[in-house]
Amino acid sequence: MRSAKALEVDLETVRAKYRAERDKRLRDDGNEQYQQVTGDFAYFVDDPYIEEAVQRGPEKRDVEVVIIGGGFGGMLAAVRLLEQGIDDVVIIEKGGDFGGTWYWNRYPGASCDIESYIYFPLLEETGFVPQQKYTNASETLAYCRTIAEKYELASKALFQTEVTATEWQEEHCRWSVTTSLGDELAARFVVHANGPLNRPKLPAIDGIGDYKGHTFHTSRWDYGYTGGTSAGGLSGLADKKVAIIGTGATAIQCVPHVAASAAQLYVFQRTPSSVEVRNNGDTDADWLKGQDAGWHDERRRNFETLLAGKPVKHDLVSDGWTDAFKLLVGGLRDKAPSRARLVLWALAGLASPKLYKKGLKKYLTDKAMAFMNVAEEMEIADYHKMQGIRDRVDHVVEDAATAEALKPYYRLFCKRPCFHDDYLASFNRPNVRLVDTDGRGVARITENAVMFDDVAYHVDCIIFATGFEVGTDYARRAGYQINGVDGLAISDKWADGMASYHGLHVHGFPNAFFFGPSQGGFSANFTYALDEQSRHVAYIVAALKQRGKKRSEAAAKAEADWVAEIVEKARDAEAFQEACTPGYYNNEGQLTRRRQDQAYGEGPVAFFDRLATWRAKDRLDGLDIR
Ligand code: NDP
Repeated sequence: MRSAKALEVDLETVRAKYRAERDKRLRDDGNEQYQQVTGDFAYFVDDPYIEEAVQRGPEKRDVEVVIIGGGFGGMLAAVRLLEQGIDDVVIIEKGGDFGGTWYWNRYPGASCDIESYIYFPLLEETGFVPQQKYTNASETLAYCRTIAEKYELASKALFQTEVTATEWQEEHCRWSVTTSLGDELAARFVVHANGPLNRPKLPAIDGIGDYKGHTFHTSRWDYGYTGGTSAGGLSGLADKKVAIIGTGATAIQCVPHVAASAAQLYVFQRTPSSVEVRNNGDTDADWLKGQDAGWHDERRRNFETLLAGKPVKHDLVSDGWTDAFKLLVGGLRDKAPSRARLVLWALAGLASPKLYKKGLKKYLTDKAMAFMNVAEEMEIADYHKMQGIRDRVDHVVEDAATAEALKPYYRLFCKRPCFHDDYLASFNRPNVRLVDTDGRGVARITENAVMFDDVAYHVDCIIFATGFEVGTDYARRAGYQINGVDGLAISDKWADGMASYHGLHVHGFPNAFFFGPSQGGFSANFTYALDEQSRHVAYIVAALKQRGKKRSEAAAKAEADWVAEIVEKARDAEAFQEACTPGYYNNEGQLTRRRQDQAYGEGPVAFFDRLATWRAKDRLDGLDIR
């Protein structure tokens, strides 16, 4: 029995279309299709923003906590530790300043499409008022400096410094942390806050090394070549033919600026993104300042609750992210049987399973039957959302064939949803051409051209908007190896998938904390997850100090149980992800291979609640403490 809305959608046809689009993109090499930025390609990760190389002698000393990474994760870890009275902290950062993602990603148009009032952490503490509902990269970078100044973090930071290794030294009960500038720190604790999307990747396209023109990755934008700033005005491209490879969240933001400045732009697409309206607007400072204490956490929680498909009283953020889920939750509420009917239903089942099975329909209305098929209702809501996105393409893009090629045929959360008001319209410009590869990707690069379908597109510059490594070896992404008890390398420990307790602690790696989404709370608003992880780590370090303990390690059983739970919950989401077009959300379509690398399956809010309950018990359960 189907709801009225279901009858409007032929789900079988939709599923078949989505599956066909997925199938043509599936490939055996998965993550191996990408080229590492090492050797001849190492220049792709040079830092273009450093004005002067740092001059200092090596530091050799004991320290309570070393934090690796000076992005929001590392800064939040430092702040939450300071709040617990732990101030013997060193932050090691490869870039020339704080900012992490926002230090590196300064490409034109770079901005955050998670609402700034929830994306910016520590808003109540700093009293900062973001200029708009969605912030841009330069304001975000400036905000990182605001946080650094308020908490005096610069004096704790070693910039332009890369960690080369961390090694556990059992006899000293400390981590030896060595760096590219010869530092040798003996740290009681290490927080690995090195970012989940920190290592740029290139597609291993045939001939990529042959290209003789100018080229760079979006996360190292070369303004020396393009001119302009992250606000646009790329005057250096006025006489240039440019190729952008990739059409993910980054390309969506920089394409309109390159389109506005370059003589000719070719956008090479393998899979179209979903591009919703953005609807930015100025902040009402009085409204923000008039919020009650605790508003920030409440708003972050409200957003994530809706994204986990659970109802909230009011949708506080109310944007393209929450919209899809409001549709779903609202739809379910309309169809939900009354509470009394649900009780009767449950009692009938308890009293007589036979009656329950046979006579179920007698006890249930059509509405209640619809309620039972939540998965299908979600699919229907998703279809309507995606159809709205596809209709918008027709509405904006003038050329019918280009419009058709720009339509995404998959479920919304198969890939990172995008929000932009100018991207689609860029393809109406006479100097912009979409080269749709119909899922195949660019075939070849020559000395001076990008090739597809035997056509050579001659270009002066190739910009790789091809994203970051996800799901590859942890040490390769971090840029350093981690050797725990008896020298065990984290690469070996995790060779067949991640193993952790709460995503943070790893058996065999005492006093080390790992930030990231795997086996923890994956949140679209990633700074929220980093803040919760930071609070948790700060509590643990303080609790150990109070107890006079120096060593804490995930117990083998606690870790095994956690991994089992992650895998169990990941199975529930597998049908969804298996039907998705490949991308980093589903390990390039090779899902079951890394089942245990998934995030906590019940969503971030449930995960954060679990951590809070664990802290409230104040027993450090699951950790071996010495
Ligand atoms: P993505 O990994 O999302 O996109 C990479 C793009 O490169 C995809 O379109 C991919 O196609 C394409 N590609 C890869 N190989 C080839 C090939 N051989 N030929 C043609 N195209 C190819 O990287 P992004 O940098 O865009 O985004 C990474 C993440 O950063 C986002 O998912 C998001 O989490 C974050 N981000 C957040 C923003 C925000 O507002 N907060 C803004 C920008 C980024 P295919 O899809 O087929 O794999």
